[in-house]
Amino acid sequence: MSESRLTQLFIDGEWRSGGSGETFAVVDPSDFTEIAQFAVATEEDCVAAVDAAERAFEDWALTAPRERGELLRSAFEIMRQEREEIADTIVRENGKAFADALTEVDYANEFFRWFSEEAVRISGDYRLSPRGDKRILVSREPIGVSLLITPWNFPAAMATRKIGPALAAGCPVVLKPARETPFTAAHIVGILERAGVPRGVVNLVTPVPTGPAVSRMLHMPAVRKLSFTGSTEVGRLLLHEAADTVVSSSMELGGNAPLLVLEGADLDSTIEGALVAKMRNGGSACTAANRFYVHRSLHDEFVDRLSRALDGYRVGPGRDRGNDLGALVSRGERDKVAQLVDRAVDEGARIVQGGGSAEDGAFYEPTVVVDVPHGSEINRTEIFGPVAAVVAFDDVDEVVRMANDTEYGLISYVFGEEREAMRVAHRLDAGMVGVNRGVLSDPAAPFGGMKQSGLGREGGSEGILEFMEEKYIGLPV
Ligand code: NAD
Repeated sequence: MSESRLTQLFIDGEWRSGGSGETFAVVDPSDFTEIAQFAVATEEDCVAAVDAAERAFEDWALTAPRERGELLRSAFEIMRQEREEIADTIVRENGKAFADALTEVDYANEFFRWFSEEAVRISGDYRLSPRGDKRILVSREPIGVSLLITPWNFPAAMATRKIGPALAAGCPVVLKPARETPFTAAHIVGILERAGVPRGVVNLVTPVPTGPAVSRMLHMPAVRKLSFTGSTEVGRLLLHEAADTVVSSSMELGGNAPLLVLEGADLDSTIEGALVAKMRNGGSACTAANRFYVHRSLHDEFVDRLSRALDGYRVGPGRDRGNDLGALVSRGERDKVAQLVDRAVDEGARIVQGGGSAEDGAFYEPTVVVDVPHGSEINRTEIFGPVAAVVAFDDVDEVVRMANDTEYGLISYVFGEEREAMRVAHRLDAGMVGVNRGVLSDPAAPFGGMKQSGLGREGGSEGILEFMEEKYIGLPV
């Protein structure tokens, strides 16, 4: 693929610059140098993308499920060949460590494989009415043109987790990636093009500023689905926008994951799980453990062992493959994390590990803070960085209350004796709970949150249903 294509919009089957001819800079957060310019999409470009998707809808919806599945499977095969190249792109624009980027690419690609298999398993339903006077046929049909908006923290996986089910269901898409990470999105769209996606079925736009262009697209009658992953703040705003035209909305929003270490937990496996729950993706994950609640009997040993493990992390540019922790996505994110830690200290917390940041790149050291008052700012906020904030607790009812004391409900982790941990898992307000494990994401599982962490589920057999509508057809007996 030629380099220029990777910096352009993809509309109606063609790579092109935006209508204004303007571009924006994408920056490498490990040294703040410019990587390259990317085309700015005007509102008219966005409208053209939705129009192209609308024109493509009928044929795509009528394409045989097997054909849609095989296209996704071809995309999977191409992406597998190019995994390292995509990982390099992610490292450059996002800053994460190479190992994290490669893990992301493989995870992302599994959504192409999974939904290539789900495309041929779309089922309906048949029942007889209770009075026996009619047959009730329920068919599942593609919802229509889908607007997909993704964040910068998993630029590949958040795109494929939406594109995979949408295409499998028979919906054309307009993808709007985060401004920080458009190159990964362009690469993935390029793969779909090479896999043979028909004209107009996949479109890529990068408007600057974002809000007005997204609003314009959402108000176009052809758009019937909004699938958004990002912050709760922006999600709320978009739900208001979507209400105007009653657009079906799936929302994967922020988290504030508690990680509970119950009395009697095995500390070897708990530390292992806690490290991955905290440090996967450098802590920039909606699933990242944010608040550590540790039973007082284990607190000191847990803190000591976690701190020693984090002290061994090699921090530096993700392109140096030996580094365990790369940069945060921007100067702003680094400063936000640093300020959260500083203010936690003002509120009475103590730093026992790390706490330093670099000037010449968006790096922040793996950090542990203890004596964190429950309800303090760092406890209420999604940290999105490599900082573990630890609170000691005495009894199970108290820790369940503290864990649930948040407007978020995406994911929780519980470590402890299995039956006790399971009992606690059922009491936690979260769409996902890890019991004695620190990673849950899996294409075969329904991913999503309760409360203000979102609406709907991605992945699993549930993910494709977000892009389908049920139609009831009544028939005579
Ligand atoms: P963000 O909300 O700032 O941006 C997400 C996307 O929305 C980007 O593409 C951005 O350009 C776009 N956007 C921003 N303002 C907009 C507006 N006014 N109108 C329309 N679109 C707009 O989030 P972010 O900083 O890119 O990502 C981090 C957030 O994403 C965190 O809160 C994280 O928890 C969340 N996240 C959630 C999940 C999940 O599955 N629940 C997964 C990954 C990230």
